[in-house]
Amino acid sequence: MRALGIDYGGTHTKLLLLEGEREVARDTVDTVRLEGLADQVSSFLGDARPAAFGVTVAGTLDPVSGVVGRSANLPWLDGTAPARLLSQALGVPGVAVQDGEAAALAEARIGAGRGSDDVFVIALGTGIAGAHVSGGAVRRGAHGAAGEIGHLRVTAADHACSCGGRGCLETVIGGSQLGARWSERGGAGGTARDVVAAARAGDEAARAVLDDAARGLGRALLALSALVDPALVVVGGGVARAPEWTVEPALAHARAEATFHTLPDVAPAALGVWAGAHGAALAARDAAAARPADASSAART
Ligand SMILES: [Zn+2]
Repeated sequence: MRALGIDYGGTHTKLLLLEGEREVARDTVDTVRLEGLADQVSSFLGDARPAAFGVTVAGTLDPVSGVVGRSANLPWLDGTAPARLLSQALGVPGVAVQDGEAAALAEARIGAGRGSDDVFVIALGTGIAGAHVSGGAVRRGAHGAAGEIGHLRVTAADHACSCGGRGCLETVIGGSQLGARWSERGGAGGTARDVVAAARAGDEAARAVLDDAARGLGRALLALSALVDPALVVVGGGVARAPEWTVEPALAHARAEATFHTLPDVAPAALGVWAGAHGAALAARDAAAARPADASSAART
């Protein structure tokens, strides 16, 4: 089946056309409003007609109605149903999927988690996102709120978190928080990359900040192991690009503190910035397969 993945990002939109698992075409365009997106997609596709598309939403999304609650980066999406609007413009059935969920779905099924049926995907960025993918589907929980690993309390330190809480994992390892923690210890501040560079150069304050971060991530891995017991944890995002300062010492801390736990294998994310587009295409295929037989047979190529 030919499926189109649209990763509708804050500044760039990624378009990916797949035939089964084979890539037919990909392109990156500037992000524009929805009407313009339909034109961008049409010119990307040319004569190629997908059977279905998936589009990511950077924000809150009702998974049943496909209506966006709030998108901080793309405010024109608030209250709209982007998949329905694009579907009308393109004449192709489509589905919307939350962006983090799309990336997790792709990493778990065709990325680093391929071959494993029970995967927890963590994205270490400015915020910390998590998703449990079991049996090929994201487990959202009863209220769509499962997987919020960034807001596990992992430290007695009292740093305020974006969620309103204190001491969350995000406050010790969130991309912008690392620089703040370094400043508090007398460092120069800056991005996560700056903190890692300083640690590599021997800066003791930066090393202490990253040790706190790894300790926090280790506690989160232990909690994950106790509550979810995944076979594999896939870790991606900018902060994970320095695994020797983050993921590897986190695992060492988790092993040192483990009692009854069976720690999961941990692997780096494999799909990079195209994970969201792949996940959108997967969601499109899943939705097409779930449609009634008469509709889906008409949609197959
Ligand atoms: Zn929090």
